[in-house]
Formats: sequence, C-alpha cells, structure tokens
Amino acid sequence: MNLILFGPPGAGKGTQAQRLVAERGIPQISTGDILRANRREGTALGKKAQVFMDEGLLVPDELIIEMIDARLSESDCQTGYILDGFPRTVSQAEALDGILQSRGGSIDKVVVLQVPADAIVGRIVGRRACQDCGAAYHLEFNTPKASGVCDSCGGSLYQRADDTEDKVRVRLTEYDRSTAPVAAYYGEQGVVREIDGLGSMTEIFGRLLAAIED
Ligand code: AMP
Repeated sequence: MNLILFGPPGAGKGTQAQRLVAERGIPQISTGDILRANRREGTALGKKAQVFMDEGLLVPDELIIEMIDARLSESDCQTGYILDGFPRTVSQAEALDGILQSRGGSIDKVVVLQVPADAIVGRIVGRRACQDCGAAYHLEFNTPKASGVCDSCGGSLYQRADDTEDKVRVRLTEYDRSTAPVAAYYGEQGVVREIDGLGSMTEIFGRLLAAIED
C-alpha cells in the first residue's frame, strides 16, 4: 500500500508513521529526515537545503523530486511505503504521479491529520530529539526520564533549529500557501481521508487504521 500522511507541521505525521511502520512493515519515507541526514553527512544536497530549512522555507522542488525518485526506486519500497512530509507542493504531487505512472504504481490513500493552528505551535516548540539515535520526545507530552538525556541510548537531546516559535510561524505560512492545495489535488483522485489529529497517540492511530481500511 502506498500512503501519504498529510497535514501541517506538528500534526503528528512522523509519530503515526512510525507506528504504522511497526504495524505494516512498510518503510516511512520522511523527506525532512532524509534532508537532515544529508546535512549531517555534509553532502552537496544537504548544503543546498540547509539555508531553506533553517529559515523554515521549502527546499526547491527539483532537489526534492530527484531525492524522492532515488528513494522510491530502492528495494524496500517495492511493496509499499508511507510518505511523510512529501509532496509539499502541487508540482511535487504532479512529479510523483509521473514517477509512479512510469513504474505502474499509484497512491492508494492520502490521510489528512487535522489539527487546529493554535495547538500546533505548542506541540512543535516542546519537541526534542536525540542527537545520536533520533528518538523523539516532548517536554510536556513525552518527557525523558532524565532531563535532556535520551531514555534509549543516553544521548543528548536537542531542539531542531526550525522548531522555534518564529520559524514555526514561517513554516505554517508555507503550509497554507504551498502545501494545503496538495489535498485538493488528491481530492480530485478520490483518495483523501480526513481524520481528527487531536487525542491520544493510540486514539489517533485507531482513526488512521480505519481511514486506511476504508
Ligand atoms: P519536516 O521534518 O517534514 O518538518 O521538514 C523540515 C524542513 O525540511 C521543512 O521545513 C523544509 O525546509 C524541508 N522539507 C522537508 N520536506 C520537504 C518537501 N517535500 N519539500 C520542500 N521542503 C521540504
């Protein structure tokens, strides 16, 4: 099954995608994670993406499309995948359709996680991640046992440079302007399912599974 998890930054796409990976055994493809890995490794792509990411702006479509085309041709994607954070513009969605058509595939479902804008800023600003293993925490909803230390590996926790309040507001503007229209694009294909993104992680996961089965 080829899925897109869709919604504004901080909607819980990454968290829910990870649960779905465990449940379905198909990979999560997060363009944000791939870009951050490229930055850590100091690749040419990572260097080009850095300036946009740190400002909360979208990385240019051509860089993203080339990156996703390469990722989707890897062997673990041949029985399905969960796209998280892609496509983020209508041009990216059109390019994805072209890539899938050339390989005889299509998107089965686009699940939209709906979270009101006023809940998003608090969710994102409290996020922390382990710099060693990438495990995700939240200062309010998912606190580590020892402050600033990863429960899993003992690594130090950090806040993403684009998770500050001013950058979150830029990212939300980018979402409204460039990304929200992608839902209408898929709406015309009849594959969009909207779910309430508020509640416990387990409640939201239940809604996600029901939307996928629908
Ligand atoms: P995320 O981890 O999904 O919140 O993405 C973090 C940042 O990576 C975004 O604010 C963008 O700068 C960049 N990014 C991730 N995915 C995309 C995409 N599909 N198109 C453009 N930029 C992206």
